[in-house]
Amino acid sequence: MLLPPTAPLSALNLTPRLCNLLHTLGLHSGFDLLLHLPLRYEDERHPRSVATLTPGQSACLIVQVIRHEIRQGPHRTLTVQVRDETGLLELRFLHFYPSQLRLFAPGNRLRLFGEARQSYQGLEMIHPRCQLFKENSPLPATLTPVYPTCAGLSQTILRRTLLRALTQLDLTDTLDPSWRNSLGLPDLATTLKILHGPTDAFQLVPALWQRLKFDELLAQQLSMHFHRQHRTETLAYAYPIQGKLSRRLERSLPFPLTAAQHRVVEEIRRDLAQERPMHRLLQGDVGCGKTIVAALAAVQCIEGGGQVALMAPTELLAQQHHAKLYDLLTSQGISIELLTGQLKSQAQHHLRQRLANGEISLVIGTHALIQERVSFKTLGLIIIDEQHRFGVAQRLSLHQKGGESTRIQPHQLMMSATPIPRSLSMSYYADLDVSVIDELPPGRQGITTKLVSTARRNEVIEGIRSACRQGHQAYWVCPLIEESEFLDLQNAQATFQTLTADAPDLRCELLHGRLAGAEKRNIMNRFLKGELQLLVATSVIEVGVDVPNATLMVIEHTERMGLAQLHQMRGRVGRGTRPGVCLLLYRPPLSELARQRLKVIYEHTDGFEIARQDLLLRGPGDYLGSRQSGLALLRFADPVQDDDLLTLARRYAATWIADAPAKALHHVACWLGTRQPYLTS
Ligand code: ADP
Ligand code: MG
Repeated sequence: MLLPPTAPLSALNLTPRLCNLLHTLGLHSGFDLLLHLPLRYEDERHPRSVATLTPGQSACLIVQVIRHEIRQGPHRTLTVQVRDETGLLELRFLHFYPSQLRLFAPGNRLRLFGEARQSYQGLEMIHPRCQLFKENSPLPATLTPVYPTCAGLSQTILRRTLLRALTQLDLTDTLDPSWRNSLGLPDLATTLKILHGPTDAFQLVPALWQRLKFDELLAQQLSMHFHRQHRTETLAYAYPIQGKLSRRLERSLPFPLTAAQHRVVEEIRRDLAQERPMHRLLQGDVGCGKTIVAALAAVQCIEGGGQVALMAPTELLAQQHHAKLYDLLTSQGISIELLTGQLKSQAQHHLRQRLANGEISLVIGTHALIQERVSFKTLGLIIIDEQHRFGVAQRLSLHQKGGESTRIQPHQLMMSATPIPRSLSMSYYADLDVSVIDELPPGRQGITTKLVSTARRNEVIEGIRSACRQGHQAYWVCPLIEESEFLDLQNAQATFQTLTADAPDLRCELLHGRLAGAEKRNIMNRFLKGELQLLVATSVIEVGVDVPNATLMVIEHTERMGLAQLHQMRGRVGRGTRPGVCLLLYRPPLSELARQRLKVIYEHTDGFEIARQDLLLRGPGDYLGSRQSGLALLRFADPVQDDDLLTLARRYAATWIADAPAKALHHVACWLGTRQPYLTS
């Protein structure tokens, strides 16, 4: 009997060990397994003769072993001389097992697959794949797939498992055949069978991939629909727009809101007044003023008796939010607290208690907020700042702190300055309303960006020193690039020493992630008050840090940084009423790609445009990165390039939802199965 494609791997008669290995590849259901597609194919169907081999070409051969020998020396190598009727060939193995020697006994016939190379003696193959050839053993009828795999799982086993799965699972096509034909898409079973074992290369037509992309996009569109539906069935506390407190807060601000801020505040206010949980992404370029929008949303919720949690990706940023909002909100009688990992355990305990009693209205923190022991009386609104910096799992976890009833969910406001192009946000963040602040507060003087080679580092140092002496404040950023926090810190320390070495008058500090929280806060405060002139920092200041007086920034190693990160970083200056200057240091020679990318950051100051260009240069997978997307939800389709298919999938999804909801559910279960919950966050 055929199994449904959603069947777990354990239903496929695999050994537990094999099941576990497949799990490590991220495969859980039969359908997951079938979607584990080959990286490439090798052609072992038609053996060639030695005489027809050309260097650089991969080929399959049937040969006879003449002799083998192990050459001793600094590198032990095994060489095997083989021949067929047309010529001689040498095989070389740099690592080998004694058991392999049996295979190479003189006279044995072998089937080989490998790439021929020209050596001094003639033709050779390094590490060909070899197996004993028996007269009656048939040659493969299809191209040989080569799969992505993990340690302990051989290609042979993977191939065998996949071939079997193709016969074990029910692959009845659920797409309407006339629709399929009109788009020229092959049926599902054919598609998968060919991809796992094409009888010839010409079978591998683009339509096969189109089919998978279409199905994937369809699953995504359907799943978004189900989540939207689910959300309409979930309740949230409604916080009416009484607005007394929030208008008072607005009046107490030292500046009027921009038109864009007004617009998004209204959008959020309306959402919060509904009995349906808000699920909104607030996008706006660095410095556009998202924090105050968040504060106004918080106040509406608090005024209606709810609690608010504001989560930031770093302690520094959480502290800064707390410092900024503290005066503003306590003057309106709102209780606000900071909860970070730095807090002593007793203080933390006390704070948690007050949160659970509802004595604290607004809590600001890092991911310490999602600890299991943190609970709320009535959590009405969750605000996630710089949301792209959090993993999906973390966001989920805060979401589940809604309080006593799981039917009642908190409203959610996510903020991000990393602009995600519309098509991407549609496809990566299911069921999300988006508000955009597309205007900077007036009076900003903008930023001048200059690209400077490290060859001129000394000049830059001199320039910074003299600017500081004239009353400017500057950042010198040594970002994370080494993949090793330790090396990066060393680099920052060395820079700090050079910068201060012969300028003892310069008030300069080094800020990095290893400092204790109080110390970081202290340094930041002194910089904010203008007591410090120069701040040498690692990427701890990448997001959110707001010191309007700082006008100069030097960033090192820019050729190795992501554009979004550079843009964020650069957004730390030019925030006040004086123009900002940003010097991007790079180490020549630049690769072509690095040159193009720096050109983008040099020519543009609009974050959305930078993101768009970045996308063109890098492609969305890389753009979203694992850190940003949590889990890549699309494996085959590319929402930008496959725009047309996305439109078709959206249309088709609508017909299924109306006419065939069972099929729709089945399709989503096949494609998204275990990833489902991630879509809601
Ligand atoms: P971001 O959107 O990057 O989080 P912030 O909320 O940190 O930006 O705001 C950047 C700076 O702009 C802050 O100093 C803030 O006080 C200021 N600001 C925000 N809104 C306005 C406004 N409407 N007019 C003038 N300054 C503003
Ligand atoms: Mg911010």
